[in-house]
Amino acid sequence: MSSNSSLGSLSLTRIPAADEALRSEVRAFLAEATRDMPAHIRARSWGGYNGEFSHKLGAKGWLGVTLPKEYGGGGRSAFTRYVLVEEFLNFGAPVGSHWIADRQSAPLILKYGTEAQKQFYIPKVCKGEAFFCIGMSEPNSGSDLASVRTKAVPNEKGFLLNGQKIWTTNAHHCQYMIALVRTSGTSEDRHKGLSQVIVDLSLPGVTVRPIQDLSGDSHFCEVFFENVQLGSDALIGAEGQGWEQVTAELAFERSGPERLFSSIVLFDQWLDYVRTPQGRSPSAQQLAGRVLTELAPLRAMSVSVQEKLTRGESPIVEAALVKELGTTLEQFIPAAIAEDLFSRDAEDVPVELLMTLKYVTEASPSFSLRGGTRDILRGMIARGLGLR
Ligand SMILES: Cc1cc2nc3c(=O)[nH]c(=O)nc-3n(C[C@H](O)[C@H](O)[C@H](O)COP(=O)(O)OP(=O)(O)OC[C@H]3O[C@@H](n4cnc5c(N)ncnc54)[C@H](O)[C@@H]3O)c2cc1C
Repeated sequence: MSSNSSLGSLSLTRIPAADEALRSEVRAFLAEATRDMPAHIRARSWGGYNGEFSHKLGAKGWLGVTLPKEYGGGGRSAFTRYVLVEEFLNFGAPVGSHWIADRQSAPLILKYGTEAQKQFYIPKVCKGEAFFCIGMSEPNSGSDLASVRTKAVPNEKGFLLNGQKIWTTNAHHCQYMIALVRTSGTSEDRHKGLSQVIVDLSLPGVTVRPIQDLSGDSHFCEVFFENVQLGSDALIGAEGQGWEQVTAELAFERSGPERLFSSIVLFDQWLDYVRTPQGRSPSAQQLAGRVLTELAPLRAMSVSVQEKLTRGESPIVEAALVKELGTTLEQFIPAAIAEDLFSRDAEDVPVELLMTLKYVTEASPSFSLRGGTRDILRGMIARGLGLR
């Protein structure tokens, strides 16, 4: 690929040795922390909510590692975070409570927030004491974020918020939402007049209703705002800049290892079975090879996107590419493992492996929806290549 093409800058890179050095300590901690958790629970990992566990990570200095020390962060690079995140996912640690705050909300506040917002929110995120959710999606808006209708109308005290968000991950557990809202104009104005506001979810007028998904879990919610009075300090960044801010934020959401590793606990557990005499078979060995040959280059691409984020760039198209390919692999893994296991004698297959397969299979349709649907990402990649 020529260096002046849109994606040519995605050159492969290595995680620096200083960051890799953290890996053994993290592994030792996680081996102990997840020892008694069955695989079908560990498979939930970044969907798994455990505030106490996040608090422990905060105490170890493993939250907000990329954020400046003056706000309680670790002052380290995105590669340090990559090592941590990769290990959390590999072990299936329950990291869902702090995930969004650590990945998106605190970096967003650091980039666009006022000094007072930085001082108030970021140290709490780093300690695992403040959890955030993302209020972008709305009923009848979905992928078409520019058409959001939730309104924050400026008044003498700040903003009066009315509207509804949907599919808000962990809203029922979080203290704060960063919401994309309309602060001026109408939905016909599209990208203009959108802003991001921080909503304290304990305010009067906020109603949070969990939604049950296919697997029986309730991790995302509907959130209703009825005359919620926000202070003027709720606005993040400039009024009307919401679209640009959200687009940059989505690169953080789309490029991380969680877009490759959602099925990794299942894959590892299945590999353990394939290594046993009754689990070994030529077709299973071929499948293991196929998954690894796809996973390895994808991981390398995802590390490269991190490097661009480290340099303060906003690799929007590259992140879309990694997410689209990553979620395709994440969905392939449970489907292929099901095919393998169901071709065997039922009594040979461990029950716990089947339970993990059941959960991952039920969760897998969402992999290519959450964080932006497949069709939208493909459209962005096509635009990046100058094809649209
Ligand atoms: C597990 C999970 C967690 C989520 N968590 C959050 C969260 O925390 N915060 C949040 O804000 N949202 C969250 N979402 C919402 C998610 O990001 C949206 O579901 C997604 O953006 C799509 O919106 P929609 O479901 O309304 O579908 P729609 O936008 O209505 O799309 C329906 C179908 O049409 C296709 N489509 C839509 N527009 C186009 C187009 N222009 N060109 C081609 N095809 C198109 C889509 O790809 C899709 O296949 C979550 C979703 C899931 C599944």
